[in-house]
Amino acid sequence: MLIVKVLLILSRARKAILLKRYTLKFKLLALTIIPLLALLILSGYEYLQVKTAANEMEQLANTQIPLNINQHEMYYLSNQWKNAIKHVETIEYDTLINGISLSFLTVIFALLINSIITRKIIQQINGATSIANKISRGKRNVSVNIQSDDEIGKLLTSLRQMQQSIRTAENLQKENETQLRLVTNGIAALVCYINNDEIYQFCNIHYATRYNSTPENIIGKKVVDIVGVEKYNQIKDHIDSVLQGGSRVFESQDVSHGGKTYYSANFVPNIDNNQAVAGYFVISYDITKHKLNELALKRKSRELEYLSTIDALTGVHNRRFFIEKMEDEVKKSKRYHNNLSVLMLDLDHFKNINDQYGHSAGDEVLKSVSKILKHSLRTTDIVTRYGGEEFSIVLPETHLDDAVKVAEKLRYIIEVAHIPINDQNKIDFTCSIGVAQYNPQMRNSETLLAIADEALYRAKREGRNRVIQSTSLVPEFALDKVE
Ligand code: GH3
Ligand code: MG
Ligand code: MG
Repeated sequence: MLIVKVLLILSRARKAILLKRYTLKFKLLALTIIPLLALLILSGYEYLQVKTAANEMEQLANTQIPLNINQHEMYYLSNQWKNAIKHVETIEYDTLINGISLSFLTVIFALLINSIITRKIIQQINGATSIANKISRGKRNVSVNIQSDDEIGKLLTSLRQMQQSIRTAENLQKENETQLRLVTNGIAALVCYINNDEIYQFCNIHYATRYNSTPENIIGKKVVDIVGVEKYNQIKDHIDSVLQGGSRVFESQDVSHGGKTYYSANFVPNIDNNQAVAGYFVISYDITKHKLNELALKRKSRELEYLSTIDALTGVHNRRFFIEKMEDEVKKSKRYHNNLSVLMLDLDHFKNINDQYGHSAGDEVLKSVSKILKHSLRTTDIVTRYGGEEFSIVLPETHLDDAVKVAEKLRYIIEVAHIPINDQNKIDFTCSIGVAQYNPQMRNSETLLAIADEALYRAKREGRNRVIQSTSLVPEFALDKVE
């Protein structure tokens, strides 16, 4: 009877211990207290039994035995004593048996509860660990079942919240990525993001198309595997620099069957909260149209620049070119002490040719003289039409004596040349030439020119068709004053 009662109590206690709403701490405490309580109850119960037996014995002991007691009553009394003693013996035996069996049951029960709880706890911890592993491996939709309110239950609740936070963050990231892709696909730029391990994290459709690929194929790959070793080596300095935290802007070009494609590339570092470079953005624009226009413009501008130095009628250089070249040559001569001479050549009585044969005949003469001059001189000599029927010639590395010889040769060729102006007529004419050599004492190129001009006019004054050198003509004003 007692054992049944105890088992009933223990069964209730077991249920209480396993109930989901209690904490593990409580469950373990209960596991310790319940066997103690059971032993306490048993001791109390045994105490009451012994106490009852003792009372019975006391009552018997206090019973007055009359002197005239007959044999029958004596027999009854002795039976009562025998029963009382037997009762006490029974209680002793019961107490021993109950004590042993209850202790045994308590130990069994404790072991049972312990193993159940331990198994349950380990099972739940294993379950939680497996869920955490799955979530960390990327299985974000794994279901997290919370079966209790205890510490394991709280752990699983935190795990579920963590799972939801990760899912929310991932969804947000996906949404951001989708928006970034939409925006960057909508602009005419090649955009990508590369982390500091040089692995693509993002790229738009234009970037992928440049490498004949798709964003899905590029993301996760190394830069060198997409752009190729040659290109990678070309941009390596820029990559190193941006990974040090510096922005880079540079031009690059791709050569394909369709021709050259020019890009303007911007490398922008992504600096995180710890001031470390987490990666870099690449934003490139196709500037081929602009670049080709720029190149065409430069070509055109060079052409125009050249044309602006050419005399339209004769094809030789003009006065502007002559002035620039003269200045250069004078500087060179000043610095390296090279000889430098200049000829000023003017056709004699040219007005008469115009008057006699017409202006276009005069033009033909000017063209022919230009040709003669060009063909008679070295390529390093500079022939220019100074204006009208006047030509200036720069002779670098030429001493005055040699310059006079050159001038004499030119004068002679022109004198003997018969320039055909139409089928019937050929024109004969002469020229006068003034020669001057640069002297470091001269102030500048204008001085040299003025002196050569002076010589030319002297040639005119002295009767034309002659060469006059300027040696004796260097005027006082043209000399640099030596302090
Ligand atoms: P001088 O011997 O003193 O130099 O006499 P000149 O007639 O040559 O000199 P002048 O300065 O009196 O006349 C120069 C002429 O050259 C006048 C001008 O019409 C002519 N002339 C200048 N430029 C051109 C040109 O481009 N074409 C033609 N046909 N004639 C030109
Ligand atoms: Mg003239
Ligand atoms: Mg003249």
